Amino acid sequence: AAPPKGKPKWLRVKLPTGKKYTELRGLVDKYDLHTICTSGSCPNMGECWSEGTATFMILGNICTRSCGFCGVKTGRPETVDWEEPEKVARSIKIMNIKHAVVTSVDRDDLADGGSIIWAETIQAIRRMNPNTTLETLIPDFQGKKTNIDRIIAVKPEVVSHNMETVKRLTREVRIQAKYEQSLEVLKYLKDQGINRTKSGIMLGLGETEDEVIQVLKDLREVNLDIVTIGQYLQPSKKHLPVKQFITPDQFKKYEEIGLEMGFRHVESGALVRSSYKAQKHLL
Ligand code: SF4
Ligand code: SF4
Repeated sequence: AAPPKGKPKWLRVKLPTGKKYTELRGLVDKYDLHTICTSGSCPNMGECWSEGTATFMILGNICTRSCGFCGVKTGRPETVDWEEPEKVARSIKIMNIKHAVVTSVDRDDLADGGSIIWAETIQAIRRMNPNTTLETLIPDFQGKKTNIDRIIAVKPEVVSHNMETVKRLTREVRIQAKYEQSLEVLKYLKDQGINRTKSGIMLGLGETEDEVIQVLKDLREVNLDIVTIGQYLQPSKKHLPVKQFITPDQFKKYEEIGLEMGFRHVESGALVRSSYKAQKHLL
C-alpha cells in the first residue's frame, strides 16, 4: 500500500507554553544542559516539564547500534566521560526535577556495557537530589546479568526497557536486538525485586492488532507493571517509513485491553513517548 500522506490532525501539537516551561527552557540554554526532551524536540515538553519530569541521556550521543526507527547517530562512540554522573545530577538540581528519567545509547563497545557509569549516575543523582525519584530506561546489556545487576543494586523506583515493536518486526526495527532477550531482561528485573518494571512499543510500523495483543500478553507473562504505546514517526527519510497512522479509537482499544490484562498503567495514544507522564508510574 502507498504510505499515508500528511499527518492526521490528532498528531498536530501546539508549541509548549507556560511559566515553568519558559523558566526551564532558559536554564537549559544558560547552563547548556542536555535533555532528550529538547534534543528530540519532544511534543510533550510543555506537559512534562510543568510536572517536573525530564529525560536525560548518558554515555554520549553516538550509539553502537543502528535501529531503523531511531534518530540517534550510529558509529564509534566517544570515550566515557567519568564526570558525566556529576553533570547529570547537577542538571537535575538546577532544573529542580522531581522525577528524572535517565536513558543511554547502547555501548556494546564497552566490557561493562556502560553499566558502571549508569550506577554512578544514579548514585550521584540520589546524593545531590535526595527527593527526586528515578526511572531508568536501560538497554538490554546483551542480556549480561552482571551488568544488569549494577542497575538493580541502586534500586531505581522504575526500571524500563522498551520492546519497541512486535516480535515479527524486531529484526527490521531493532536490528541488533532480540525479542526474547528483551523479555528476559524484563523478567530478570522483576524477579530481582524491582518494584515497577515498564516497557514501550511504537505502532504504525506495519504490525497487526493480533501482534500488538501478543506483545502485551508476553509482557504480562513476565509480570510487567507499566506499558506505553505510541505512534511511530519517521525521524528522517533514511529511517523506516510510517506504514500507518493509528487512530485515537484504536489506541483507546489497546489501553482497555491492556488494563483488562492486569497492567498497573497503560499509556496509549498517538503522542505517547516512553517517558510521557512518567511520574504517574510511581503510583
Ligand atoms: Fe521529555 Fe519524555 Fe516528556 Fe518528551 S515525553 S518531554 S522526552 S520526559
Ligand atoms: Fe537508538 Fe537505542 Fe537503538 Fe541506539 S539502541 S539506535 S539509541 S534505539
